[in-house]
Amino acid sequence: MNYKAPRGTHDIFGTNALAMSLLEQQARVIFKKHGFEEIRTPLFEDAALFMRSIGQTTDIVEKEMYIFEDRKSRKLALRPEGTASLVRAFIENRLDISMPAGRFFYIGEMFRYERPQTGRYRQFHQIGAEFLGNPSPAADAEIIILAQDLLFSVGIKEMDVRVNSLGCEKCRYLFREALVKYFCSVRDLCEDCVRRLEKNPLRVLDCKTDSHKFTGVPRISDYLCDYCKDSFNLVLSLLESAGCNYTADEKLVRGLDYYTRTVFEIRSDAVGSQDALVAGGRYDNLVGELGGQNTPAVGFALGSERVLLAARNTGFFDSFQESEKIFIAIADQELFNEAFSFAVKMIRNGLKGGKDISVFGPVNGKSLTSQLKFADKIKAVKTIVFAKTEFENGKFLVKNMKDKTQVEVLIDEL
Ligand code: ATP
Ligand code: MG
Repeated sequence: MNYKAPRGTHDIFGTNALAMSLLEQQARVIFKKHGFEEIRTPLFEDAALFMRSIGQTTDIVEKEMYIFEDRKSRKLALRPEGTASLVRAFIENRLDISMPAGRFFYIGEMFRYERPQTGRYRQFHQIGAEFLGNPSPAADAEIIILAQDLLFSVGIKEMDVRVNSLGCEKCRYLFREALVKYFCSVRDLCEDCVRRLEKNPLRVLDCKTDSHKFTGVPRISDYLCDYCKDSFNLVLSLLESAGCNYTADEKLVRGLDYYTRTVFEIRSDAVGSQDALVAGGRYDNLVGELGGQNTPAVGFALGSERVLLAARNTGFFDSFQESEKIFIAIADQELFNEAFSFAVKMIRNGLKGGKDISVFGPVNGKSLTSQLKFADKIKAVKTIVFAKTEFENGKFLVKNMKDKTQVEVLIDEL
């Protein structure tokens, strides 16, 4: 065959598909407990929406977006993240009125043109939550705890929760000035840094090439106003009282422009160099900037593939409840119709006792031996054999595929 999945994309099947859907299923249960409601937005949006909200000098907008024109020359983009779409939907559908609790979650594919490696793909899945309309540091703390609960649900216990505050515009203005002054004194900044220094000096802090050179760099904590300082301390003390182990990390700036005050990441070293499993923060200005009523907000996004990589050795992958496979075989071809309708009935009604089962067969035109071989291949636990003499007496044979013993059972008994 001449076709391959596009670079950086994957087919998800078998155990990985089971793991992904169990993760999503558990996430839905946890979201419900925290009062979050689902929202599904389009996979593509007006490209300008992302440019405007994520920021022109961010990695996503500078080099990672899949942008295309449709047949009417509209400039669209495959969504690289969920927050911008959600805020657009919040404003457009007046969700502040119809869903006043303001707690939303989303689950789905995101697209970024990146260099593919373990835990970094061009199409990947995120599970994210956004808490709109609540300015309290308690909302920040709840969002962090909620993200942590999702990781606990797949057995991840070792995690590194990093929290920082980027302050409000006022604190950031002063910090920015100090940063520019400082960075101008650093030699040999990389090309990206030089460019960003002009437009967005905060992003220089985030540079993966240069950050080791930044000794004595100004600290944001020295520039926080009293309100920002107090809210940050309250977030930290709420986390502490909820038993969340965190590290306050002044180096954490995050790659998206819309954040204000709290930003956080949850990392795990089980994923190698792509170690951020969850990232998020507060973005009090975005709703207003996109044309809505000023609405404070805080949220996070979790990368499902990375989380599942980190859950490889936690026992999560051994926890799938596999259903018992039952194969329906026919020893005599003329019983095919009866066997078929029995299989349908069994699928609809299940077994007595309510055990989880999956039903396979019957197949026609195959010898009993080859039917039994197939039953072994799919790891059927039992095979129910329709044979003429037994069937005429209202019975069939139930074969235990492990020890190959068989018993006659009355048809009504199953
Ligand atoms: P990174 O620094 O690793 O590039 P990011 O800051 O770009 O991450 P966010 O935009 O905050 O990441 O996305 C939140 C989460 O989504 C990340 O912590 C990660 O788990 C996941 N994620 C981001 N980009 C990818 C990708 N290309 N492939 C797989 N997962 C990703
Ligand atoms: Mg990135």
